[in-house]
Amino acid sequence: MTKLRVAIVGAGPAGIYAADILLKAERKFDVSIDLFDRLPAPYGLVRYGVAPDHPRIKGIINALREVLDRGDIRVFGNVDFGKDITLDDLKRHYHAVIFATGAVRDADLNIPGIDLEGSYGAADFVSWFDGHPDVPREWPLTATSVAVIGNGNVALDVSRMLAKPAEDLLSTEIPQNVYEGLKASPVTDVHVFGRRGPAQVKFTPLELRELGELNDVDMILYDEDFEYDEASKTAIASNKQVMVIDKVLQKWRERPVGNASRRLHLHFYARPLEVVGDDNGHVAAFRYERTRPDAEGGVVGTGEIREVPIQAIYRAVGYFGSPLDGIPFDKRHGVIPNREGVALHKGSNDVVPGVYATGWIKRGPVGLIGHTKSDAMETIRHVINGEGSWWNPEAPSEQAVIDLLDSRGVKYTDLEGWHNLDQHEIALGEPHGRARVKVVPRDEMIAISRAEAPVN
Ligand SMILES: Cc1cc2nc3c(=O)[nH]c(=O)nc-3n(C[C@H](O)[C@H](O)[C@H](O)COP(=O)(O)OP(=O)(O)OC[C@H]3O[C@@H](n4cnc5c(N)ncnc54)[C@H](O)[C@@H]3O)c2cc1C
Repeated sequence: MTKLRVAIVGAGPAGIYAADILLKAERKFDVSIDLFDRLPAPYGLVRYGVAPDHPRIKGIINALREVLDRGDIRVFGNVDFGKDITLDDLKRHYHAVIFATGAVRDADLNIPGIDLEGSYGAADFVSWFDGHPDVPREWPLTATSVAVIGNGNVALDVSRMLAKPAEDLLSTEIPQNVYEGLKASPVTDVHVFGRRGPAQVKFTPLELRELGELNDVDMILYDEDFEYDEASKTAIASNKQVMVIDKVLQKWRERPVGNASRRLHLHFYARPLEVVGDDNGHVAAFRYERTRPDAEGGVVGTGEIREVPIQAIYRAVGYFGSPLDGIPFDKRHGVIPNREGVALHKGSNDVVPGVYATGWIKRGPVGLIGHTKSDAMETIRHVINGEGSWWNPEAPSEQAVIDLLDSRGVKYTDLEGWHNLDQHEIALGEPHGRARVKVVPRDEMIAISRAEAPVN
């Protein structure tokens, strides 16, 4: 073997960090890496998950871009593993594959009425406001009262995007259709519900604080949620993050509630029971059971049932990975079963030769972008030392995979294509003083990337 040919599927942060770490690692052989993504543009959830009004985090794209711009990783966008390229193809052309396909869909919330019209998954809404090519352009923002279920940062992103005045998003990269949709939204009340108490939330302080800084939005908190039990008091006293969160919430409790056009209500100790529908099968109310602390940091039901009238509900109860053709999948956790990134057969725990995982598809949809770096380090260590389990490809030349994609008529996009799209989006933003305006339709993204359409 002259060169280790490695395919990485998924050009989100995990895939790009894995490629970077593999190239920089001390090793006794050359490597040649091809990075595939089903989307025409790289960066995964940094481009299509992180909220547009978080420019600092979106800025991580610059660091990822620097890695790609070195030019030693080949990028193949618009190539869907399982459809455009299969596991057998990869075995023919590579010695190993690293899956970095993340977790892109909503976890389920199994309560009656969750499929009613007006009930949405946070991931779909996030995809819409972040201009993902595969979701509809229009989002039905007709509700005045909305419930958001969940007490993590995605719930905060969704609530903030729903409540924030659209004008305050104009400086961001949101697509025009998103701006127009949000601007026309009649929403007045966004209710966020968490099963547990303020000392058990999964928000991070920075993201929570942002809610209180929104223009023309009152924060509404309820005294009954702040009768802390001993476990909560201990959590606040012993954990700095919980302490800061409590401080932020206590400050809001003291703030006079004015006459803002919109209100953001934080409800704690609320266990979802049912989404109640009207006669037309549309969301009409959210029914929940009031819980109380169980003295161990958990909660128990009180039997008290409450109902809040709403016309739309968003479940932000976590993301979930999707199975990949021919690759073992742990249905319970939504991940590729693995030991430190080495894929394992489900049940037997035997190693699956040549197959590795990193990022959210390896460890589940928790953790920040930075965590995908340490993840990748661990996985790459095993790739480098895994010679015994590498495949023996028949056609490892770099040209062979290009010939394959061409023969199948796959309109793949490459690094130069990303530069074309990037420049196009920046140019779209310039006349309006915006950093960029995202191109949303997939066909348009591909045509601009492949220089098949005039670049305005
Ligand atoms: C709404 C939201 C907001 C977030 N905000 C922040 C934040 O502010 N700060 C922070 O640090 N972290 C944030 N995160 C977390 C961060 O996005 C993740 O930690 C990180 O993106 C996980 O990286 P990944 O590469 O594993 O997955 P992803 O970023 O999801 O990348 C996976 C890639 O694989 C591709 N793919 C999937 N299936 C296939 C297939 N079959 N064939 C080819 N390609 C495929 C996808 O198109 C995607 O590009 C946020 C997450 C969400 C959901």
